[in-house]
Amino acid sequence: MNDNSFYSYLHKQIPVMMVLSLFPGLAYVLLAWLHDIQFKGFIWYALVVVVSLWGYSIYKEYLANDRNSKQLKIWYRKLSWFYYVIFALWLLVFLLFISEKQYNLHYIAIFTEIGASVVASILLIPDKKLFKPNIIMLMVPLMIYFVILGDWHGYVLAVFSATLAWVLIYSAGSSHKLLMQTNYQANHDYLTGLKNRFYFINYLQSALSSLQAGKSYTYLLLIDLDHFKTINDSLGHDIGDHLLQDVSNRIKEYQQENTLLARLGGDEFVILGSEYSNKESCREDAQAVANKILQGLKESYTVELHNLYISASIGVSLLVEEYNDASRLIKEADIAMYEAKEKGRDGVIVFDDDMAQRIERNLEIERLLHFSIENDEISLVFQPQLDIRQQVIGAETLTRWENKKLGAISPETFIAIAEQTGFIIELGRYILESAFRALGSWDKQGISLDQFSINVSMRQLFYNDFVDDVKLLCEEYLTQEMRNKIVFEVTESIIAEDVDKVISIMKSIKQLGIRFSMDDFGTGYSSLSYLKRLPIDEIKIDRSFIADLNQESSDQIMVNSILNMANQFSLSVVAEGVETEQQFAYLKANKCDCYQGYYFSVPLAEQPFVDFYLKNNNK
Ligand code: C2E
Ligand code: CA
Ligand code: CA
Repeated sequence: MNDNSFYSYLHKQIPVMMVLSLFPGLAYVLLAWLHDIQFKGFIWYALVVVVSLWGYSIYKEYLANDRNSKQLKIWYRKLSWFYYVIFALWLLVFLLFISEKQYNLHYIAIFTEIGASVVASILLIPDKKLFKPNIIMLMVPLMIYFVILGDWHGYVLAVFSATLAWVLIYSAGSSHKLLMQTNYQANHDYLTGLKNRFYFINYLQSALSSLQAGKSYTYLLLIDLDHFKTINDSLGHDIGDHLLQDVSNRIKEYQQENTLLARLGGDEFVILGSEYSNKESCREDAQAVANKILQGLKESYTVELHNLYISASIGVSLLVEEYNDASRLIKEADIAMYEAKEKGRDGVIVFDDDMAQRIERNLEIERLLHFSIENDEISLVFQPQLDIRQQVIGAETLTRWENKKLGAISPETFIAIAEQTGFIIELGRYILESAFRALGSWDKQGISLDQFSINVSMRQLFYNDFVDDVKLLCEEYLTQEMRNKIVFEVTESIIAEDVDKVISIMKSIKQLGIRFSMDDFGTGYSSLSYLKRLPIDEIKIDRSFIADLNQESSDQIMVNSILNMANQFSLSVVAEGVETEQQFAYLKANKCDCYQGYYFSVPLAEQPFVDFYLKNNNK
């Protein structure tokens, strides 16, 4: 039985036992008085009162206790003695009454003994060590009493009492077994036999309050397998289950003493550390255990003739002085674990103050971003794109957010947050509208571009109404001629989604005349086969490749092969992040179509862009 519910059950029976002793006890005092044994009766009742008071103090102690397991064990020993003693007092009253001559007292004594045994067999069900000895202690003297009666009916009653004792022990025993079974199921994970989430959370809660009281520290490791889903999907759930069992056994090997290992569900395991008086040693141990587990899990597994490999990402959170909130400890480990996943998996990250601050800040950004459009804080800038003769032929739209409180936030930060919260749908529509309007106004000013790029994020693209929204905005702001200039820049991350769906969305957009560009090309996991399938018109060589072009390097080979490949697929190429003359010269020599970067211009606001265009193209 779960320790906590076990103790708490036995704890609740203390007042029941007190009431069952103190009130019926008065009737026995009265009977004793009526039969001239009042002195013995009073002594007995005084003992009942004393033992009840003792029981009450044990009852109170449990409530005041912060209940760590050591203290609970000491408390439990006292509690057991209380039950033995109070049932012994009922045996005492039995002995007192049968030692009298009057037969009516004997009848009462016999019923008392049977009654007390029944009470013991019901109240003490969760604990075999309590109900068995108590029933025996109460029933054996009764049997002896019947045997001593000597008559045939005495023997029969002795046999009856033995039978009753057996029935009581047997039925309490089977209820006990059933209770244990249900309790086991409620607290354990069926697959691995480890403790489950339900048990873990309860345990953590009480462990934390006791750690808090003792001003001690502990750690929590959240272990999540990497790419487990792939194994499950490709080899089937039986093999996945088997692997989970092997993994849980392996983690057990590295688990330290006095720690708790549980499976939270799926491929997620958790370990709660033992108690530390020193924060540093707690952190070091957590790190050491996590590293060992990480190494251990990576060794190969053999499951039904398959050789399997798996790694894990581990997030660690440490209990610090200020709080004792279980859900917070888990959440922090969770954040650290996701950080480990983001950093390429197969690693350990310990949650720290930096991370906490970053989360605070992100929450603040999230909150303020929500009002950014209505407060008119979002603006667009446009970075010129030039051809080989350095004429401006296009522009990339980039978004800026300037908040009163936070200052300027980089689009890398706020776009990512907008994607997470879904605000990107609203923001994306606003950006499209503003960009289309800018293009329209330039057109009137005689600025003629070949292309006008707008970044479109994955979540935005997959939004149900995206195609309709774009269509409406086109109708409102753009002539067909202008639509043919629009290029949507998407990143390779869209490939991670349902490729067929991506293709169908892209095709609908293309019907409006809009083209697509593959942004940050070369940094993701684009494969040639996808590139062939996606209706892409242009690729943008990521600026990280351009940055290293100055030196003789593998980046030159990379850039050359991108240019060659683009040529073969008849895609146009934009080199972004061109910062130096050498980079421009190298790209020019290798026949890149289009250039963008600080070497030519930083991103410019609407009017400065017009000025730059006019000055540059009329040279
Ligand atoms: P990106 O699409 O790759 O945009 C190019 C980034 O490189 C821009 O940063 C630009 O200012 C910067 N850049 C341009 N030339 C140079 C150069 O010569 N050297 C260097 N080091 N950097 C250069 P920015 O504006 O901070 O945007 C960062 C990212 O934020 C963008 O990367 C894009 O992924 C995202 N983003 C910006 N605006 C939007 C938007 O309207 N919608 C979406 N979905 N994403 C946007
Ligand atoms: Ca871009
Ligand atoms: Ca880019």
